Amino acid sequence: MQTIRALNPLRETTAALRRAAGTGARLALVPTMGALHDGHLTLVRRAREMAEIVAVSIFVNPKQFGPNEDLDAYPRQLERDSELLVAEGVDLLWAPDITAMYPEGFATNISVEGVSAGLCGADRPGHFDGVATVVCKLFNQVAPDIALFGEKDWQQLAVIRRMARDLDLYAPLPNAIVGVPIVREADGLAMSSRNAYLSADQRKAAAALPRTMRSAIERLTIGHPAKDVLGTLSADVLAAGFDNVDYAELRDAASIELLAEPNDNARLFVAARIGGTRLIDNMAVG
Ligand code: AMP
Repeated sequence: MQTIRALNPLRETTAALRRAAGTGARLALVPTMGALHDGHLTLVRRAREMAEIVAVSIFVNPKQFGPNEDLDAYPRQLERDSELLVAEGVDLLWAPDITAMYPEGFATNISVEGVSAGLCGADRPGHFDGVATVVCKLFNQVAPDIALFGEKDWQQLAVIRRMARDLDLYAPLPNAIVGVPIVREADGLAMSSRNAYLSADQRKAAAALPRTMRSAIERLTIGHPAKDVLGTLSADVLAAGFDNVDYAELRDAASIELLAEPNDNARLFVAARIGGTRLIDNMAVG
C-alpha cells in the first residue's frame, strides 16, 4: 500500500495504478476520518469486490466540525489504521495534511439544500457543507470510478448523492455512489469511531438506542400512531441512561422530508447524547 500526503504524488500514483491494472480497471474510493473499525473495513471489502484498485482516504475534516464539537478529541491513529488497510489489500492510502486539503486562502463552500436541512443538518449547522465540500474535493483529487459510503450516515449519503447528481460528478455512472448497510456490534449498537468515547457503563446503556428503535418500528408496523411511538422511544432512551434525544423522527429515505406517519419509503432516524457523546442511528420502517 502506498501512503500519499500531497496532491502531485497522489495524481502520479493513481495514474500508475491505473496503467498497471490495465484498461477497464475500476478505482474505488472509501472516504473516512480514520480510527477504523469493522464498519469501515466492510466498506473496504465491498470496494475490493467492486473494483480492481482500492483507495482509502483518511482526513479528519475540520470544516465538518462545529466550534463546540470534538475536532481536537477525535481519535487519530494513522499507524494502526495503515496496518488494518494493508491487511485488507488496499492499494492507496490518501492521508492529506491540512494544507494539501485547504491551502492558504481556501474560499469555496458547497452547500446542498433540502436534504441537508433537518436531522443532523439542523443540530450541526454547517456540518453538511463541510462534508459536501471535502467529498467533492476527494472526488476531484482521487478521481475514482465509484465511491462507497455507509448507511450509518444516511443523511450524509443522501447529501453526497444529490451533490454528485447536481454537479455531474459521476454523470456516466449513475450508481457510482454506493451505500453499504450499517455494521453493528453484537448488541446492536452501530459501530462508530465515537463509541471509543463511551465509559463501560455508557457503552452498556448505549445498546438501548437500537433496541428501542426496533421496538418502535414493531409498534409502527402494527399501526400505533407515530407521535406516540416516537414519544415512547425518546422516553425509553432517556430512561436507559441517555442525557438527551436530539431527534427521533420519521423521514422519507430519499428526500429526507419529515413524515407524520410512515409510508413505504420511511426511515426512523435518531440522534441521542450520552455523557458528551452524540450517537446516531437509522433503520428502515417498512
Ligand atoms: P467516518 O470515518 O465516521 O467519517 O466514516 C467513514 C465512512 O464509513 C462513512 O461513509 C460512514 O458512513 C461509514 N461507516 C462508519 N461507521 C459505519 C458502520 N457502523 N457501518 C457502515 N458504515 C459505517
